[in-house]
Amino acid sequence: MPHILLIDDNPDDRLLVRRELEREFSSELQVTEIADESQLENALKIDKFDLVITDYQLCWTNGLRVLLALKSHYPNCPVIMFTSTGNEEIAVEAMKNGLDDYIIKSQKHYLRLALAVRSNLARAKAEYQVSRLENRLQSLLNKLNVGVFRCTVEGRLLEGNNAFLRLLNLETIAQAQMLDLRELFWQRQNPSQQQSHSSEIPLHQENGLKWIKLSQALITTEDEPIIEGLIEDITERKEAETALQKLNEKLEVRVQQRTSDLEDVIEQLKMFADSISHDLRAPLRSIQGFAEALLEDYISALDPKAQNYLQRIIAAAELTNTLIENLLEYSKISRTELQLEPVDINIIVAQVIAQMEEELRQKQAEVFVIDSLPTVVAHHTTCLQIVTNLLSNAIKFVAPDVKPKVVIRAETNQDFFTLWIEDNGIGIKPEYYNKIFGVFERLHGVESYPGTGIGLAMVRKGVERMGGEVGVESELGNGSRFWVKLPSIQII
Ligand code: ADP
Repeated sequence: MPHILLIDDNPDDRLLVRRELEREFSSELQVTEIADESQLENALKIDKFDLVITDYQLCWTNGLRVLLALKSHYPNCPVIMFTSTGNEEIAVEAMKNGLDDYIIKSQKHYLRLALAVRSNLARAKAEYQVSRLENRLQSLLNKLNVGVFRCTVEGRLLEGNNAFLRLLNLETIAQAQMLDLRELFWQRQNPSQQQSHSSEIPLHQENGLKWIKLSQALITTEDEPIIEGLIEDITERKEAETALQKLNEKLEVRVQQRTSDLEDVIEQLKMFADSISHDLRAPLRSIQGFAEALLEDYISALDPKAQNYLQRIIAAAELTNTLIENLLEYSKISRTELQLEPVDINIIVAQVIAQMEEELRQKQAEVFVIDSLPTVVAHHTTCLQIVTNLLSNAIKFVAPDVKPKVVIRAETNQDFFTLWIEDNGIGIKPEYYNKIFGVFERLHGVESYPGTGIGLAMVRKGVERMGGEVGVESELGNGSRFWVKLPSIQII
């Protein structure tokens, strides 16, 4: 409930004022009457009033002095002078000293007094709330770890919080106001004319280099353009970034070094494998040649058992020879630069079928090519190797009493072209889908299905060298569907 001090040495006037206020505010007001100096002194000590009404002519002083005393202690407390003895000069003087309202004490002005009390109470309350809000905002700003400031476009500081001073190594706002912020933040340029903008700025301070992030906005208040900004200390982040960058550079150098070491080792290994393969073939040819010579020239001197041993030697030498040939091919496909060119997969498939005609006929195999196949940018010989390997596996890995049936078809979507080679063979368990693409990985003995275990490794290497992928979908006993996927960017 608002509390009003009513200073008047005339008891009748006090009664009339009180009556008027009670009529206007009923019981919403508390009124304390002050009739002499000591009562006023006591009341001022207590400081629990929201508005003061004072007469000008008082037996112990005058209203102007009361006003000065009040405003010096309570600058925000509204004071209304209600007098019959004042004049215009007094009114002007009082207004200059902060008087909030001046009302002539006469019967017809009693009503105005009540209205003035109401409006001054409302204004004081609003001002109090605004100042409370400002105080809370200021204290919040001062608690922030981020510097907040406002300055003119010429770089003169208008306001800044504690963190702003701290980040600039300053103690007082006055020191900050001596600074040319334009020089500090915008390096003598005009601050950005963009509505809002942020930048990272190095500040060279006594205690070293400090990095700050400046976020600013150009706004217009009362037709004046001003800059509102935030500054944050990002030194730690910058140091971490620099450390990371240095680390990355070091790592990069180490990776390059290791890669080049590794390339050297791989190259040496390849050369070693090549020379071993080549060197192995000569004695192998001798074994095979002399075993055949023995069989041809001394057949009559050899009993069937010896002949059988010799045939086994020849077969083993042949297998070893194929193995070496395949290994050489694999190492070639891994190493040689593949020249990519437009390759019509229809032609590739037709060539492979023609080459394998005899084998297909022997196995009574049927090959169905579904629709037209696409043209891709690829490597002709590698494509031939891939299709040959997949097709010969498709007709090889079938149950003994089954006639091979192979379907070749293609799918094209936005990103990829996929070639499918589907068979009606023995199928593959899911746990081997990936394994079979490794060098020498075979799921069966040579007696049941001959082979060296390098074909699919070559397929994978070739496809990968052309930027694609290869895989299989299958079910044991229910055929396999091998797929080769190449990026459609290669499709013409
Ligand atoms: P190879 O044919 O010389 O044995 P591959 O590398 O071509 O070697 O194949 C590896 C293994 O994958 C084969 O030994 C076989 O076990 C399995 N495999 C390959 N293709 C098929 C297929 N179409 N159906 C069933 N199994 C297959």
